[in-house]
Amino acid sequence: MEICVHLRDILEEELREGNEVVSKYIDEWTNESYSVRLRRPLNKHNRDDYLAMSPTISYWENKESRYMPGKGYYCKQCKHSISGPFYYDY
Ligand SMILES: [Zn+2]
Repeated sequence: MEICVHLRDILEEELREGNEVVSKYIDEWTNESYSVRLRRPLNKHNRDDYLAMSPTISYWENKESRYMPGKGYYCKQCKHSISGPFYYDY
């Protein structure tokens, strides 16, 4: 499965900067939400342009440890998300 067109530029830029995909996850219950997890924290620098261009994308942070903590972007139109950990932890 490919990340949606709204998040593709962000993912490609992360990979160009040396980030790596560690997992891809499709929600088995709804079969419609799709998440890509990256090894390093996403670089928010200069991403406000993407948010301004694509009203379907929002930035989120999750610090609750009972869910997978991290920060990333979510596309509410396609229910796709791209995320990484909060901190560079190794
Ligand atoms: Zn989308």
